Amino acid sequence: MANCLFCSIAGGEMEAEIVYEDDRAVAFADINPQAPVHYLIIPRKHLAGVNEIEQTDEKLIGHLYFIARKVAEEQGIAATGYRLVTNSGADGGQEVDHLHLHLLGGRKLKWPPG
Ligand code: 5GP
Ligand code: ZN
Repeated sequence: MANCLFCSIAGGEMEAEIVYEDDRAVAFADINPQAPVHYLIIPRKHLAGVNEIEQTDEKLIGHLYFIARKVAEEQGIAATGYRLVTNSGADGGQEVDHLHLHLLGGRKLKWPPG
């Protein structure tokens, strides 16, 4: 989708520290990390957010979690623990309107989030 930051990263037009990619998804380092380990996992398909997920996307969404698991293992936080977060809409704190999973770890995370 034109004028979408994460579509540009997935398409290679915008630079990012990519740690995993395949035909359906991309994982890259967050530019403003909130924890020692902070990656974003996105589908290549432009979905603005959780509200736009269709039933036909179910397999794709599951794939994002599988990639999150792989990246967590590769980054050495699978055993110590981590958090997967998807912010949705204004109250949820979503700033980029392309569906993404945050993978956060490398420190003890507080609960509940603010
Ligand atoms: P949201 O607030 O939508 O859940 O998360 C958006 C995330 O994208 C934020 O954590 C922010 O730091 C990250 N981000 C924003 N712009 C860029 C960028 O240009 N490159 C990368 N790698 N991350 C970005
Ligand atoms: Zn997009």
